[in-house]
Amino acid sequence: MFHRKDNSGGILIATRGCPNKCEFCAVSVMYKNCFKKRPVEEVAREYGSFKGKVIIFWDENIAGDLAYAKELFKAITPHKKWWSSQASIHAGQDDEFLELAAKSGCKQLFLGLESISQRSLNKANKTFNRVDDYYRIIEKIHSYGIAVQAGVVFGFDEDEQGVFIETLGFLEEAGVQNATFNILTPYPGTPLFERLKREGRILTYDWSKYNARTDVVFEPKRMSREELLEGFIRANQRFYSLGSIAKRLSRSAAGLWWTLPLNLAYYFSNIFYGYEGLRRSGEGKSGVLVEGVGPDH
Ligand code: SF4
Repeated sequence: MFHRKDNSGGILIATRGCPNKCEFCAVSVMYKNCFKKRPVEEVAREYGSFKGKVIIFWDENIAGDLAYAKELFKAITPHKKWWSSQASIHAGQDDEFLELAAKSGCKQLFLGLESISQRSLNKANKTFNRVDDYYRIIEKIHSYGIAVQAGVVFGFDEDEQGVFIETLGFLEEAGVQNATFNILTPYPGTPLFERLKREGRILTYDWSKYNARTDVVFEPKRMSREELLEGFIRANQRFYSLGSIAKRLSRSAAGLWWTLPLNLAYYFSNIFYGYEGLRRSGEGKSGVLVEGVGPDH
């Protein structure tokens, strides 16, 4: 169990793995496509034992089994805490899931959108993400008072230079409160790694560069490596610009009391640290990523 000894911290795990098999994801490889669930009562007991108000479910996909998740949400509701977790898009497709999640104190879901290109999603074996549904799903999640943190990946084979501006436009129109951008990275053992290796597109086997934020480790198809890296940096900077923050957060009041300060913190961090801050955050993550916990949603 992953929590502090004094039980004042707020991280716990209800499930491990994910039943899906996205081409780029290390989670399904690392867990050999197993999706394991702890008994609901046991998780609820641990959840209730935390003294703190805010809990993070450190699950790869809290929506991996919707029926299990609903039982869990019912069991933790009496504890009146706030929580967040990562979830596949299935979370936003199920009203009962969202209702029970909101009642149990869910304040934000990290949603694996990955791309606004349906062709990229299809090629990545993520056909269950339907881009046409993105606006509706995000709006629905917001209607339950739950903020959305989007997981976005740049560098799919269908991505051209315009992908950065198009994605930013979408995130702003949809009112997405937070986003984590990653450079597509073929983690060893994933189907993506095997495919790019077959195609002769892997550029380095220096695993320290497989951090999804500071290096492009494969040959992109429709743009240069430099364009991919620069577009990724610009996307991070624009997303947390004042104009974008105002546009996004004016779309929904979900979690405004804490998403606004958080967005402003990123804004000032960009001003003071710029790319150096992004680089450092990549360094901080690289160890974890090489161990296999890749961009998981
Ligand atoms: S990207 Fe997300 S939905 Fe896909 S396999 Fe990984 S954790 Fe599951």
